[in-house]
Amino acid sequence: MKVICILCDEAFTPSKFQARKIMKHPHKIQICETCHDRITTKVNMQRTAKP
Ligand SMILES: [Zn+2]
Repeated sequence: MKVICILCDEAFTPSKFQARKIMKHPHKIQICETCHDRITTKVNMQRTAKP
C-alpha cells in the first residue's frame, strides 16, 4: 500500500496502524513520517517559546 504525502508529494508506505486508519478514513489527508516529525518538532518549539 502506497500513500502520497500532501506536504512533500512523496509516496510512502504507511505503518500498519496508519494503514488501518487510512482504510477507515480514505478521504483524510495523509502526511509522511518525515513531515509529521517536522511538524511535531515545530509545534513543540512554538509551545516552549511561548511565555
Ligand atoms: Zn511528507
